[in-house]
Amino acid sequence: MTTAGEAKPRKHTKLYYCDINVCEGICCSDGAFLLDEEVRLIHKVVKKHPEHFAMLPKDYIIAGEWEGETGPQTNTRKHVYRDKPEHFKNTRCVFTEADGKCSLQTLAVKQGVHKWKYKPMGCWLFPLSSDEVGLVPPPRTRREDPNNLGKRYPGFSTSTPCGKHAEKGKVWWIALKEEVTEYRK
Ligand code: SF4
Repeated sequence: MTTAGEAKPRKHTKLYYCDINVCEGICCSDGAFLLDEEVRLIHKVVKKHPEHFAMLPKDYIIAGEWEGETGPQTNTRKHVYRDKPEHFKNTRCVFTEADGKCSLQTLAVKQGVHKWKYKPMGCWLFPLSSDEVGLVPPPRTRREDPNNLGKRYPGFSTSTPCGKHAEKGKVWWIALKEEVTEYRK
């Protein structure tokens, strides 16, 4: 029981499992910001497997910008979603395959190596994120969403089917057990 003066226990975010048939891979709509070592790794695998990445434009990694933050980012192309949050763009990462799967992951699966070997960490962790202290749980409310810029852009992960709090979902460390385990390795 919480007594006067004590902080209320934090309510945990609950999530539904990712289902690409429902979400159409909407988390890939803006492409992904990349770490320098991820840029190097992606260039290496693309060069080594041109047949797998035949759909890529020449500029598959560009100089990205988000609210004053800059860094290398995967490029996007036009894609019209059946259903999407109003403030999301009708675009998707150029590494996305027609069915919404990530080609960096399908290559790894084809090779029989770990499925996230080539995939950027920000992508496989989503809707978790990480900072200098460690793993950051998914926000439970739009107010907690770090990408909530107000009316013009009311949040990112809390607007996606797998990142939105769902009372009937699983608590996040169960829904994202694989991601949590991989991060802690
Ligand atoms: S790299 Fe893969 S998972 Fe990340 S945004 Fe692009 S298609 Fe999606």
